[in-house]
Amino acid sequence: MKSNPDGTFSDGALVPFGTIEINPHSSVLNYGQGLFEGMKAYRTPTGEVQIFRPEENAFRMQMGAERLLMAAPSVEQYVDAIKQVVRANIRWVPPHGKGTLYIRPLLFGSGSVMGIAPAPQTTFLIFTNPIGNAYKGSSASLSLLVHDSLPRAFPGGTGGVKNISNYSPVFQVVKEAKCKGFSDVLFLDAVEHKYVEEVSSCNAFIVKGNKISTSPTLGTILPGITRKSILQLALELGYQAEERRFSVDELLEADEVFCTGTAVSISDVCSATYKDRKVEFKTGENTVTRKLSEMIRGIQNGLTEDNRGWVVKID
Ligand code: PMP
Repeated sequence: MKSNPDGTFSDGALVPFGTIEINPHSSVLNYGQGLFEGMKAYRTPTGEVQIFRPEENAFRMQMGAERLLMAAPSVEQYVDAIKQVVRANIRWVPPHGKGTLYIRPLLFGSGSVMGIAPAPQTTFLIFTNPIGNAYKGSSASLSLLVHDSLPRAFPGGTGGVKNISNYSPVFQVVKEAKCKGFSDVLFLDAVEHKYVEEVSSCNAFIVKGNKISTSPTLGTILPGITRKSILQLALELGYQAEERRFSVDELLEADEVFCTGTAVSISDVCSATYKDRKVEFKTGENTVTRKLSEMIRGIQNGLTEDNRGWVVKID
Protein backbone atom coordinates (compact mmCIF):
# COMPACT_ATOMS: atom_id res chain seq x y z
CA MET A 1 0.00 0.00 0.00
CA LYS A 2 1.24 3.47 -0.86
CA SER A 3 -0.63 5.21 1.95
CA ASN A 4 -2.94 4.47 4.81
CA PRO A 5 -6.40 5.80 4.11
CA ASP A 6 -8.19 7.44 6.97
CA GLY A 7 -11.09 5.21 7.86
CA THR A 8 -11.91 1.54 7.73
CA PHE A 9 -15.40 0.25 8.36
CA SER A 10 -15.41 -2.65 10.77
CA ASP A 11 -18.62 -4.20 12.04
CA GLY A 12 -20.67 -1.05 12.17
CA ALA A 13 -18.05 1.55 13.09
CA LEU A 14 -15.41 3.65 11.39
CA VAL A 15 -12.01 2.90 12.85
CA PRO A 16 -8.48 3.88 11.82
CA PHE A 17 -6.85 1.57 9.31
CA GLY A 18 -4.71 -1.08 11.02
CA THR A 19 -4.18 -4.76 11.61
CA ILE A 20 -7.07 -6.78 13.03
CA GLU A 21 -7.20 -9.56 15.60
CA ILE A 22 -8.57 -12.86 14.42
CA ASN A 23 -9.46 -16.02 16.26
CA PRO A 24 -7.23 -18.92 15.06
CA HIS A 25 -10.40 -21.08 15.11
CA SER A 26 -12.23 -18.77 12.73
CA SER A 27 -13.84 -20.39 9.71
CA VAL A 28 -12.23 -17.93 7.31
CA LEU A 29 -8.74 -19.04 8.33
CA ASN A 30 -9.55 -22.73 8.46
CA TYR A 31 -12.12 -23.22 5.71
CA GLY A 32 -12.01 -20.13 3.54
CA GLN A 33 -15.51 -18.97 4.52
CA GLY A 34 -15.18 -15.48 3.13
CA LEU A 35 -16.26 -13.13 0.36
CA PHE A 36 -14.85 -9.94 -1.07
CA GLU A 37 -16.07 -7.20 -3.34
CA GLY A 38 -14.25 -4.63 -5.43
CA MET A 39 -15.50 -1.13 -6.17
CA LYS A 40 -14.09 2.29 -7.04
CA ALA A 41 -14.80 5.91 -6.11
CA TYR A 42 -14.29 8.32 -9.01
CA ARG A 43 -13.64 12.08 -8.98
CA THR A 44 -15.77 13.85 -11.59
CA PRO A 45 -14.48 16.80 -13.68
CA THR A 46 -16.27 19.17 -11.24
CA GLY A 47 -14.56 17.59 -8.23
CA GLU A 48 -17.51 15.58 -6.91
CA VAL A 49 -16.99 11.97 -5.85
CA GLN A 50 -19.19 9.15 -7.07
CA ILE A 51 -19.45 5.36 -6.98
CA PHE A 52 -20.87 3.00 -9.60
CA ARG A 53 -23.86 0.70 -8.97
CA PRO A 54 -23.07 -0.12 -5.30
CA GLU A 55 -26.42 -1.86 -4.85
CA GLU A 56 -25.25 -4.49 -7.32
CA ASN A 57 -22.18 -5.24 -5.21
CA ALA A 58 -24.38 -5.43 -2.11
CA PHE A 59 -26.71 -7.84 -3.84
CA ARG A 60 -23.81 -9.99 -5.08
CA MET A 61 -22.41 -10.15 -1.55
CA GLN A 62 -25.81 -11.30 -0.31
CA MET A 63 -25.91 -14.06 -2.95
CA GLY A 64 -22.44 -15.16 -1.89
CA ALA A 65 -23.35 -15.08 1.79
CA GLU A 66 -26.35 -17.30 1.12
CA ARG A 67 -24.11 -19.79 -0.71
CA LEU A 68 -21.54 -19.82 2.13
CA LEU A 69 -24.10 -19.77 4.96
CA MET A 70 -23.21 -16.36 6.34
CA ALA A 71 -25.33 -13.43 7.45
CA ALA A 72 -24.86 -10.45 5.11
CA PRO A 73 -25.58 -6.73 5.50
CA SER A 74 -28.76 -5.51 3.83
CA VAL A 75 -28.37 -3.51 0.61
CA GLU A 76 -29.07 -0.31 2.59
CA GLN A 77 -26.52 -1.16 5.29
CA TYR A 78 -23.92 -2.05 2.68
CA VAL A 79 -24.36 1.12 0.61
CA ASP A 80 -24.45 3.28 3.74
CA ALA A 81 -21.19 1.71 4.99
CA ILE A 82 -19.51 2.28 1.61
CA LYS A 83 -20.60 5.93 1.66
CA GLN A 84 -19.25 6.39 5.21
CA VAL A 85 -15.86 4.95 4.27
CA VAL A 86 -15.56 6.98 1.07
CA ARG A 87 -16.58 10.14 2.92
CA ALA A 88 -13.92 9.48 5.56
CA ASN A 89 -11.30 8.97 2.84
CA ILE A 90 -12.49 11.64 0.44
CA ARG A 91 -9.09 13.39 0.39
CA TRP A 92 -7.59 10.19 -1.01
CA VAL A 93 -9.80 10.11 -4.10
CA PRO A 94 -7.37 11.18 -6.85
CA PRO A 95 -8.20 14.12 -9.13
CA HIS A 96 -10.37 13.38 -12.17
CA GLY A 97 -8.49 11.25 -14.68
CA LYS A 98 -5.58 10.56 -12.33
CA GLY A 99 -6.84 7.37 -10.71
CA THR A 100 -9.52 6.19 -8.31
CA LEU A 101 -10.04 5.17 -4.71
CA TYR A 102 -10.32 1.40 -4.71
CA ILE A 103 -12.81 0.05 -2.18
CA ARG A 104 -12.50 -3.47 -0.83
CA PRO A 105 -15.42 -4.84 1.24
CA LEU A 106 -14.89 -8.16 3.01
CA LEU A 107 -17.37 -10.47 4.72
CA PHE A 108 -15.95 -13.46 6.53
CA GLY A 109 -16.61 -16.09 9.17
CA SER A 110 -14.77 -14.71 12.17
CA GLY A 111 -16.44 -16.80 14.87
CA SER A 112 -14.78 -19.87 16.33
CA VAL A 113 -15.68 -23.28 14.89
CA MET A 114 -14.17 -26.63 15.86
CA GLY A 115 -15.76 -28.87 13.21
CA ILE A 116 -16.02 -28.19 9.49
CA ALA A 117 -18.99 -25.88 9.73
CA PRO A 118 -19.97 -22.27 9.12
CA ALA A 119 -18.97 -19.75 11.78
CA PRO A 120 -21.61 -18.50 14.22
CA GLN A 121 -20.35 -14.94 13.72
CA THR A 122 -19.25 -12.91 10.71
CA THR A 123 -17.24 -9.72 10.24
CA PHE A 124 -18.03 -7.05 7.65
CA LEU A 125 -15.07 -4.84 6.92
CA ILE A 126 -14.28 -2.25 4.24
CA PHE A 127 -10.91 -0.76 3.49
CA THR A 128 -9.80 1.55 0.71
CA ASN A 129 -6.66 2.37 -1.16
CA PRO A 130 -5.97 5.02 -3.80
CA ILE A 131 -4.83 3.57 -7.09
CA GLY A 132 -3.47 5.20 -10.20
CA ASN A 133 -4.67 4.63 -13.75
CA ALA A 134 -1.88 2.16 -14.27
CA TYR A 135 -3.44 -0.29 -11.78
CA LYS A 136 -2.23 -3.78 -12.66
CA GLY A 137 -4.23 -5.16 -15.55
CA SER A 138 -5.76 -1.88 -16.65
CA SER A 139 -3.07 -0.98 -19.14
CA ALA A 140 -3.57 -1.29 -22.89
CA SER A 141 -4.30 -4.61 -24.55
CA LEU A 142 -4.23 -8.03 -22.95
CA SER A 143 -2.54 -11.08 -24.40
CA LEU A 144 -4.40 -14.14 -23.09
CA LEU A 145 -3.27 -17.72 -22.70
CA VAL A 146 -6.20 -20.13 -23.00
CA HIS A 147 -5.81 -22.80 -20.32
CA ASP A 148 -7.26 -26.10 -21.46
CA SER A 149 -6.73 -28.32 -18.41
CA LEU A 150 -7.33 -26.40 -15.17
CA PRO A 151 -10.83 -24.90 -15.00
CA ARG A 152 -11.38 -21.88 -12.78
CA ALA A 153 -14.66 -23.21 -11.39
CA PHE A 154 -16.69 -26.41 -11.28
CA PRO A 155 -20.45 -26.88 -11.74
CA GLY A 156 -22.08 -26.75 -8.32
CA GLY A 157 -19.04 -25.00 -6.81
CA THR A 158 -18.63 -21.37 -5.84
CA GLY A 159 -17.41 -19.83 -9.11
CA GLY A 160 -20.57 -17.73 -9.34
CA VAL A 161 -19.85 -15.86 -6.10
CA LYS A 162 -16.86 -13.86 -4.94
CA ASN A 163 -15.58 -16.50 -2.55
CA ILE A 164 -12.02 -15.72 -1.43
CA SER A 165 -11.14 -19.37 -2.00
CA ASN A 166 -11.79 -19.14 -5.75
CA TYR A 167 -8.65 -17.16 -6.35
CA SER A 168 -5.63 -18.94 -4.86
CA PRO A 169 -6.13 -22.17 -6.90
CA VAL A 170 -5.35 -20.22 -10.09
CA PHE A 171 -2.32 -18.31 -8.75
CA GLN A 172 0.00 -20.95 -10.16
CA VAL A 173 -1.28 -20.99 -13.76
CA VAL A 174 -1.58 -17.21 -13.88
CA LYS A 175 1.98 -16.86 -12.59
CA GLU A 176 3.24 -19.35 -15.18
CA ALA A 177 1.40 -17.51 -17.97
CA LYS A 178 2.86 -14.16 -16.82
CA CYS A 179 6.36 -15.65 -16.75
CA LYS A 180 5.82 -16.61 -20.40
CA GLY A 181 4.87 -13.01 -21.22
CA PHE A 182 1.06 -13.32 -21.28
CA SER A 183 -1.11 -10.81 -19.43
CA ASP A 184 -3.58 -13.33 -18.02
CA VAL A 185 -5.28 -16.73 -18.42
CA LEU A 186 -8.60 -17.42 -20.11
CA PHE A 187 -10.35 -20.39 -18.53
CA LEU A 188 -12.61 -22.95 -20.22
CA ASP A 189 -15.49 -24.97 -18.78
CA ALA A 190 -14.75 -27.87 -16.44
CA VAL A 191 -16.76 -30.53 -18.29
CA GLU A 192 -15.92 -30.33 -21.98
CA HIS A 193 -12.86 -28.05 -21.72
CA LYS A 194 -14.20 -26.27 -24.76
CA TYR A 195 -16.49 -23.39 -23.79
CA VAL A 196 -15.09 -20.01 -22.81
CA GLU A 197 -15.74 -19.08 -19.19
CA GLU A 198 -13.75 -16.06 -17.97
CA VAL A 199 -10.35 -14.57 -17.20
CA SER A 200 -8.90 -14.78 -13.67
CA SER A 201 -10.54 -11.55 -12.54
CA CYS A 202 -12.69 -10.35 -15.42
CA ASN A 203 -15.46 -11.47 -17.74
CA ALA A 204 -14.78 -12.19 -21.41
CA PHE A 205 -16.69 -10.96 -24.47
CA ILE A 206 -16.33 -11.58 -28.19
CA VAL A 207 -17.41 -9.30 -31.04
CA LYS A 208 -18.25 -10.63 -34.49
CA GLY A 209 -19.81 -8.14 -36.87
CA ASN A 210 -22.73 -6.56 -35.06
CA LYS A 211 -22.97 -9.30 -32.47
CA ILE A 212 -21.49 -9.10 -28.96
CA SER A 213 -21.51 -12.27 -26.86
CA THR A 214 -20.53 -13.25 -23.36
CA SER A 215 -20.99 -16.61 -21.67
CA PRO A 216 -24.02 -17.10 -19.40
CA THR A 217 -22.88 -17.24 -15.78
CA LEU A 218 -24.50 -20.66 -15.01
CA GLY A 219 -23.01 -20.79 -11.49
CA THR A 220 -19.40 -21.08 -12.66
CA ILE A 221 -18.80 -17.54 -13.91
CA LEU A 222 -18.89 -14.45 -11.71
CA PRO A 223 -21.85 -12.21 -12.64
CA GLY A 224 -19.75 -9.11 -13.16
CA ILE A 225 -21.34 -5.72 -12.65
CA THR A 226 -19.32 -4.26 -15.52
CA ARG A 227 -20.44 -7.24 -17.65
CA LYS A 228 -24.10 -6.55 -16.87
CA SER A 229 -23.66 -2.83 -17.63
CA ILE A 230 -21.87 -3.50 -20.91
CA LEU A 231 -24.63 -5.88 -22.06
CA GLN A 232 -27.14 -3.06 -21.51
CA LEU A 233 -24.97 -0.35 -23.13
CA ALA A 234 -24.31 -2.56 -26.16
CA LEU A 235 -28.05 -3.05 -26.67
CA GLU A 236 -28.61 0.71 -26.29
CA LEU A 237 -25.96 1.34 -28.98
CA GLY A 238 -27.86 -0.97 -31.34
CA TYR A 239 -25.62 -4.03 -31.19
CA GLN A 240 -27.03 -7.50 -30.87
CA ALA A 241 -25.81 -8.31 -27.35
CA GLU A 242 -26.37 -11.73 -25.90
CA GLU A 243 -25.42 -14.23 -23.22
CA ARG A 244 -24.55 -17.39 -25.08
CA ARG A 245 -22.12 -20.23 -24.65
CA PHE A 246 -19.36 -20.09 -27.23
CA SER A 247 -16.36 -22.31 -27.82
CA VAL A 248 -12.72 -21.34 -27.80
CA ASP A 249 -12.70 -22.02 -31.58
CA GLU A 250 -15.37 -19.38 -32.01
CA LEU A 251 -13.37 -16.95 -29.87
CA LEU A 252 -10.37 -17.46 -32.13
CA GLU A 253 -12.56 -16.43 -35.10
CA ALA A 254 -13.82 -13.22 -33.43
CA ASP A 255 -13.14 -9.72 -34.77
CA GLU A 256 -12.54 -8.35 -31.28
CA VAL A 257 -12.24 -9.79 -27.79
CA PHE A 258 -12.49 -7.73 -24.62
CA CYS A 259 -12.58 -8.22 -20.87
CA THR A 260 -14.68 -6.37 -18.30
CA GLY A 261 -14.25 -5.81 -14.57
CA THR A 262 -14.08 -3.09 -11.96
CA ALA A 263 -10.27 -2.93 -12.09
CA VAL A 264 -9.99 -2.72 -15.87
CA SER A 265 -13.43 -1.32 -16.76
CA ILE A 266 -12.94 -2.64 -20.30
CA SER A 267 -9.66 -3.90 -21.61
CA ASP A 268 -9.23 -4.94 -25.20
CA VAL A 269 -7.52 -8.23 -25.95
CA CYS A 270 -4.83 -8.12 -28.63
CA SER A 271 -4.24 -11.87 -28.82
CA ALA A 272 -5.26 -15.29 -27.54
CA THR A 273 -3.00 -18.32 -27.62
CA TYR A 274 -4.54 -21.79 -27.54
CA LYS A 275 -2.48 -24.96 -27.93
CA ASP A 276 0.43 -22.94 -29.38
CA ARG A 277 -1.80 -21.18 -31.92
CA LYS A 278 -1.73 -17.41 -31.50
CA VAL A 279 -4.55 -15.34 -32.98
CA GLU A 280 -4.60 -11.54 -33.02
CA PHE A 281 -7.68 -9.35 -32.73
CA LYS A 282 -8.57 -5.82 -33.74
CA THR A 283 -7.85 -3.21 -31.03
CA GLY A 284 -7.66 0.55 -30.65
CA GLU A 285 -9.46 3.24 -32.67
CA ASN A 286 -12.72 2.48 -34.50
CA THR A 287 -13.48 -0.69 -32.61
CA VAL A 288 -16.68 -1.72 -30.85
CA THR A 289 -14.59 -2.19 -27.71
CA ARG A 290 -13.39 1.42 -27.84
CA LYS A 291 -16.95 2.70 -28.29
CA LEU A 292 -18.22 0.73 -25.29
CA SER A 293 -15.17 1.65 -23.27
CA GLU A 294 -15.65 5.37 -23.81
CA MET A 295 -19.32 5.04 -22.90
CA ILE A 296 -18.89 3.17 -19.62
CA ARG A 297 -15.79 5.09 -18.50
CA GLY A 298 -17.61 8.35 -19.22
CA ILE A 299 -20.46 7.35 -16.92
CA GLN A 300 -18.15 6.02 -14.21
CA ASN A 301 -15.88 9.05 -14.02
CA GLY A 302 -18.60 11.63 -14.47
CA LEU A 303 -17.67 12.89 -17.95
CA THR A 304 -21.06 11.74 -19.22
CA GLU A 305 -24.31 12.35 -17.44
CA ASP A 306 -25.83 9.23 -15.92
CA ASN A 307 -29.47 8.84 -16.88
CA ARG A 308 -29.73 5.19 -15.83
CA GLY A 309 -29.51 5.64 -12.07
CA TRP A 310 -26.16 3.85 -11.94
CA VAL A 311 -24.12 6.49 -10.20
CA VAL A 312 -24.33 7.32 -6.49
CA LYS A 313 -22.84 10.65 -5.40
CA ILE A 314 -20.99 10.96 -2.11
CA ASP A 315 -22.32 14.11 -0.49
N1 PMP B 1 -14.80 -12.40 -12.87
C1 PMP B 1 -14.04 -12.54 -11.78
C2 PMP B 1 -13.53 -13.89 -11.44
C3 PMP B 1 -13.73 -11.44 -10.97
O1 PMP B 1 -12.98 -11.57 -9.87
C4 PMP B 1 -14.24 -10.16 -11.35
C5 PMP B 1 -13.91 -8.94 -10.52
N2 PMP B 1 -14.89 -8.66 -9.58
C6 PMP B 1 -15.05 -10.07 -12.49
C7 PMP B 1 -15.30 -11.21 -13.24
C8 PMP B 1 -15.66 -8.76 -12.92
O2 PMP B 1 -16.69 -8.37 -12.05
P1 PMP B 1 -17.06 -6.82 -11.84
O3 PMP B 1 -17.35 -6.28 -13.17
O4 PMP B 1 -18.22 -6.84 -10.93
O5 PMP B 1 -15.86 -6.20 -11.21
